[in-house]
Amino acid sequence: MKAIPNTFFLMLITALFACNSLLAGVSDDRNKPGDDKKAKAKRTDTTTASITTLIENEEDSPDTTLILFPSNDLYASWDTNTVHPYHFADCFRQDSVSICLTDIGQNFVMPFKGLITSQFGWRRYRPHYGTDIDLEIGDTVVSAFDGMVRIAKSHVQGYGNVVIIRHDNGLETVYAHLSKLLVDPGQKVKAGELLGLGGNTGRSYGAHLHFEIRYLGQALDTEDFIDFANGNLKSYEFTLRKTDVETKYDLRALHHRHRRDVGAISYVKTKNGTTYKVYRVRQGDNLGRIAQRCHTTVKALCKKNGIKPTKVLQVGQKIKV
Ligand SMILES: [Zn+2]
Repeated sequence: MKAIPNTFFLMLITALFACNSLLAGVSDDRNKPGDDKKAKAKRTDTTTASITTLIENEEDSPDTTLILFPSNDLYASWDTNTVHPYHFADCFRQDSVSICLTDIGQNFVMPFKGLITSQFGWRRYRPHYGTDIDLEIGDTVVSAFDGMVRIAKSHVQGYGNVVIIRHDNGLETVYAHLSKLLVDPGQKVKAGELLGLGGNTGRSYGAHLHFEIRYLGQALDTEDFIDFANGNLKSYEFTLRKTDVETKYDLRALHHRHRRDVGAISYVKTKNGTTYKVYRVRQGDNLGRIAQRCHTTVKALCKKNGIKPTKVLQVGQKIKV
């Protein structure tokens, strides 16, 4: 009698792991967000331990929670306290990944149907990692996809009252500035299920929903996923490329790069009162790169400075642009 349930559980677990690896398309021994030596060791231990526990305690209903957190194959931790515990850059080492947004029997539902009042991007002083949707205090906010509540917390800096859901598709979604939280961490939710009520808590000036989509902790532009006018997904699959993160989603890095480029340009006034723009050459610069940064051509730079395209530039040298 005992051999049958043992075999059954082993088959079940093998199938679960095989499924996870197939869906993710990655092996389990790579880095996961929030990984350090301790977390990695713990992960190896708990995985083995949970299988052993499952088999040994088959008669007392086994605790399968360790392997049932959504996207457990991608994320090192299930942290119900830290809002963003992940290190995207350490973990996303492939050039691109294809994310299957909705699977058979799963849906997408707009968290709240309203007008966009602020988009993803750099605002005057800080990055804005989400999309703001206009609502009234007390309006119902629902989950975008199926998943499990990881964070349901009040008075989080910036976010106010916030819910974060981990989804089976590998994404996490963030719902901020709520007036009331109606879910608890660990709670399973379906797409369209009520999470809380809209509000004006945290760094918010006027009631709205701040909605984010993140992958391994990296915030992505929700408008790349959702057609807000129709309330539908633009596509069932989303390809995230490393180059897109570098050129589009990593707002802080982009902002610093922009400031650095701006800082390299200055204006010189001549004796007769006219001004011209100069660029101070930095490490690794060449005429092609400078032309690109200053929105001009190598030919124009050469003409203005009386130099040849093969001219070797010195760091600190100023050239007219
Ligand atoms: Zn916002």
